[in-house]
Amino acid sequence: RFKDKVALVTGSSQGIGAACALRMASEGADIILNGRTLDERGEKLINQINEMGRKATFLVADISLTQNVINLVNDAVKVYGKLDILVNNAGVEKNHNFWEVTEEEYDLVMDTNLKGLFFGIQAFAKYCMDHKTPGTVVNMSSVHEEIIFPHFAAYCASKGGLKMLTRNLATELAPFNIRINNVAPGAIATPINKSLMDNKEQLNNVLKNIPMKKLGAPEDVAAVVAFLASDDARYVTGSTYFVDGGLTYHYEEQ
Ligand code: NAD
Repeated sequence: RFKDKVALVTGSSQGIGAACALRMASEGADIILNGRTLDERGEKLINQINEMGRKATFLVADISLTQNVINLVNDAVKVYGKLDILVNNAGVEKNHNFWEVTEEEYDLVMDTNLKGLFFGIQAFAKYCMDHKTPGTVVNMSSVHEEIIFPHFAAYCASKGGLKMLTRNLATELAPFNIRINNVAPGAIATPINKSLMDNKEQLNNVLKNIPMKKLGAPEDVAAVVAFLASDDARYVTGSTYFVDGGLTYHYEEQ
């Protein structure tokens, strides 16, 4: 589905971002990987993508810094001469009581999960408009754009903001042939959930709320991202697709 397409995936050294990069490469895309540093995970990913016969380049950038994310998008365009797909995956979460959250933690979460995306999408939209070329944006949101998560107030605020950002931009960018959608993972087995996966009791409590009674895999999320990024979703914009084993709207037996 991605022959002759170039996709940029932010925060793609591990977890869901890495799975998205591999999935789109397996369907023909050349990939721009991103992270704050290039380490052996990034190197391995480049090799895996090359082995699929696709090109991969890693661009180092901290997407929480506005000028960095703008430069990242502009540099990504230069690497293979075009950019068709932007997957805004990089994200962070902080677990704290609301009354203990510091301004520094709040800024880190909001700047990474919302502000960085905002200006990354703006740079991508300007590129698409200037070059009269269509574009597709997929944002990694969370079930917490919809449902509460006590002790993760800043995270919920960032993903809730992302819900409305996507709804808003779908209308503003549709005349320019730019589609934008969110994917909302539930509990996915990635490094972000390491402490959860290491604590059996806590994990069982989470699984109680998931009708499918298991964590999702990064590849489960990547499959939906690939659908939304592809022409199969050509009439889909301004939506959120939940990948959560039924978590968001589950019914609890009383
Ligand atoms: P992860 O921590 O395994 O991966 C996130 C990646 O983003 C890491 O490689 C990290 O280094 C990178 N990153 C963080 N801040 C960055 C920055 N400022 N600039 C560049 N890269 C940065 O997490 P994951 O589970 O793969 O999560 C990916 C996305 O999915 C996040 O947006 C997260 O909120 C969302 N999500 C995850 C889950 C889950 O259960 N794993 C659930 C809902 C939503």
